[in-house]
Amino acid sequence: MDGMSASFGIELADPYRGSRAFGTIRLENGCQSTLRNPIGCSGVGLHAGQAVTMTLRPAPAETGIVFRRRDLGVEIPARFDRVSDTRLCTVLSLPDRPEARVGTVEHVMAALSACAIDNAVVELDGPEVPVLDGSSAPFVFLIECAGRIDQAAPRAAIEVLRPVRVIEGQGYAELRPSHAPGLSLSLSIAFEAAVIGRQAYSMRLGERSFRDELADCRTFALRHEIDAMRAAGLARGGSLDNAVVVDDGTVVNPAGLRRPDEFVRHKMLDAVGDLALAGAPLCGAFIGHRSGHGLNNRLLRALMADPQAWRLTTGTMLPATHEAVAA
Ligand SMILES: [Zn+2]
Repeated sequence: MDGMSASFGIELADPYRGSRAFGTIRLENGCQSTLRNPIGCSGVGLHAGQAVTMTLRPAPAETGIVFRRRDLGVEIPARFDRVSDTRLCTVLSLPDRPEARVGTVEHVMAALSACAIDNAVVELDGPEVPVLDGSSAPFVFLIECAGRIDQAAPRAAIEVLRPVRVIEGQGYAELRPSHAPGLSLSLSIAFEAAVIGRQAYSMRLGERSFRDELADCRTFALRHEIDAMRAAGLARGGSLDNAVVVDDGTVVNPAGLRRPDEFVRHKMLDAVGDLALAGAPLCGAFIGHRSGHGLNNRLLRALMADPQAWRLTTGTMLPATHEAVAA
C-alpha cells in the first residue's frame, strides 16, 4: 500500500501535469506515444525453447500494439479478442490461421502499457516473445533506452462504469468503477507450498510504481509442474536463469528471491500485461484472488460484452505518470 499512497500523492499535487495542448485541442489524457527509436534483443522462448530475436519498433498514432511474425509475414493485434490460449501464458493468434501465433506476450505488454507506449510493433522471428530473465525489467530497460515521443492524437481511456466479475473455482477477477484516476490493482494468492503461502499486494499503476514495485518480479513454477510440462514438450526454455522454481517448500534458485513477496507481485505484473490487451488504458479498480491469465482474459471479454459497463473517454481519467523517459 506504500506505493499506492506515494504515487497517488504525487498525482493529487498536480492533476493536470499529464495534460498537453496541440493547437487549440486540449488532450486531457495526454497524447498518444510511441518509441523514439527501434530497439532489439534476443533470447529464448520459455515454452518452445527456441532462439528468438525481437525488435520493438515505433508505429503511427492509432496503431495500438501489434505483434509482427516476420518469419510468417503476418501481424496480430494485441487485443483481448485475439487471445487463443491462456493455460501457461497468454497466446495471441489470428482466428483464421491458428499457426500464426505469439506466446508469452504478457511481460512485454505489461512493460509497454506501464511505460505509456500506445503504439508500437513488436517484431519477432519466432512463435514466442523471449523470456529474458522471466520478468518485465529487461523490457522496461529496452523501452527506456529507445526513448518515447508524443504523437498528435489524443489518448483514449476505458472507464469502468459498473462492476464486472468472473469466477473460476476458488478464484475470481473483478473490475469496479473508481473515483481515482487510472488503474488500481489488488491481488491475493494462496499456494500450499509454504514458501509462497498466502500473499496479497495492492498498488496504483503508474510508470514509476510499476518500475519500482513489479517490473523485476519473475515468473515462477512448482517443480512437479515443470516435470509435467516438460513431459508435454513445454517449458523447454525454462531455467533457473528465467524463472523462480519452488520444490518441497523451498526456492531452488541459489540466489533466492528478489523480494519476499515476488510471487504475488509477478501475478500482478501478469494482470497488468493481460489487462493491457483491452486496447486502451483502463480506469477503474482491479481485484483478483487466485486469478491468472484465463480469468484476466475472461474479465476483459465480460467487460467489453456489456456496453453499460464501460465507456471510452478522453476526459481526465489517467494519472499524470507519464514523465519523459530517457531518450
Ligand atoms: Zn508471467
